[in-house]
Amino acid sequence: MKKIEHIGIAVKNLETSNQLFEKLLGVAHYKIEEVLSEGVRTSFFKSGPNKIELLEATNEESPIAKYLKKKGEGVHHIAFAVDDIVSEIERLKKEGFVILNETPKKGADHKLVAFIHPKTANGVLVELCQEIKE
Ligand code: ZN
Repeated sequence: MKKIEHIGIAVKNLETSNQLFEKLLGVAHYKIEEVLSEGVRTSFFKSGPNKIELLEATNEESPIAKYLKKKGEGVHHIAFAVDDIVSEIERLKKEGFVILNETPKKGADHKLVAFIHPKTANGVLVELCQEIKE
């Protein structure tokens, strides 16, 4: 893995939290993107070289809706950038990690993504993301 690509934070209301994080970070979000397949609406902030992703549920079946019900708002996942997501998934499977989607899917921000089950990673939901080159 190369570096932390972003930190994902589950929020109840994207508009309210955009304002909050704008005050916190001193910058406005640079994009809002809906990922239909995941039932989320996301916004992205840059803080120096780092990125923060806010995630709001768009329906009750969304993983974010379930997370908010169970744990409330807060840090939801840590995403790591990888060069080759398929070989990284293979490597992590061999190391005993449970991958939630073994076939990478299209996430927000032009990325192919896969998630590692938090039960196999000390309670941390880990996202792998590879830039989609177009
Ligand atoms: Zn993410």
